[in-house]
Amino acid sequence: MGGNNVHEQIERLRALQELDHELNSIRQERRKLEMEQAELSGEMVRIQDMVNGLDEEIGTLQSQQAELQQGLAQEEANIKRSEERLPEIKTQKEYLAVLKEVDSAKKVNKDLQAKFDEKQAQIAELNAEKDEKLKQIEELKERTEVRTSEIAEALQEFDETLEAKTGQRGTHIDPLPKQLQKRYALLMERRDGIAVVEARDGNCTGCHMHLPPQLFNSLFLNPQIQSCPHCNRLLFVTRTEA
Ligand SMILES: [Zn+2]
Repeated sequence: MGGNNVHEQIERLRALQELDHELNSIRQERRKLEMEQAELSGEMVRIQDMVNGLDEEIGTLQSQQAELQQGLAQEEANIKRSEERLPEIKTQKEYLAVLKEVDSAKKVNKDLQAKFDEKQAQIAELNAEKDEKLKQIEELKERTEVRTSEIAEALQEFDETLEAKTGQRGTHIDPLPKQLQKRYALLMERRDGIAVVEARDGNCTGCHMHLPPQLFNSLFLNPQIQSCPHCNRLLFVTRTEA
């Protein structure tokens, strides 16, 4: 019977829409989890980048330190050489000159040592900062490990549910005429995911506009699937009689 056929189609469309809403919310939840995972991984990369930057700074300071060390050793050698000469010196004038040499070399050395110590302090500071970051990475790893496996498990479950529900979807949509399938898909896309709505008290519950009385009345006769003249959504009515 034609009437029953339209009624059946409406019922299928309603079931289809309900399922599509479920599918959408599952996909949304799934996407949220994927984003959370990406954020967790991103945070790890961000801290690791900071550690790499600190390593680079420490490396630069260490090579500057090595240069200072070389300067220190050289001055040290100069001082030693000068001091060794002292016993062989004959004149007071020469003696004073060498002492002056030693003195100024010691002064240079003191400067170099101060610079060296300064670098040492900077390196210690950066190392402390680096240790702090490494600790953060460890903590994050620990935290992420648990959450990551939780997320992976949840994603797996979502995928299974999606697969099962997508299979169910076929049983609702496949028996519908192709033309109706297309109308439904287009409305879902253009009408905020609501393609099938109830007509109640003479109004479309999709756009809340008043329906022409003749159209509203004809819905109870079920001659064909009707759409709202304002929003184009497919209309159904709830019958009180059997
Ligand atoms: Zn409407």
